[in-house]
Amino acid sequence: MKQGIHPEYHEKTVIKCACGSAFETGSTKEGLHVEICSQCHPFFTGKQKFVDTGGRVEKFRKKFGLKEDAAQ
Ligand SMILES: [Zn+2]
Repeated sequence: MKQGIHPEYHEKTVIKCACGSAFETGSTKEGLHVEICSQCHPFFTGKQKFVDTGGRVEKFRKKFGLKEDAAQ
């Protein structure tokens, strides 16, 4: 393998999702930010869930007095 032709591989990069969950993974990028992940994607959770894009879900929860895990 030649040196210098491969992007630097960060073995542990923290991926932060819009749903609030964060997890470590390997990536060539550092500090990724995603809008959906395996924790909140309906395909993985099996149910629809709001994706918080700027505190809207937080306001919704406060308005109706819902707890963080009320949708679980
Ligand atoms: Zn997520």
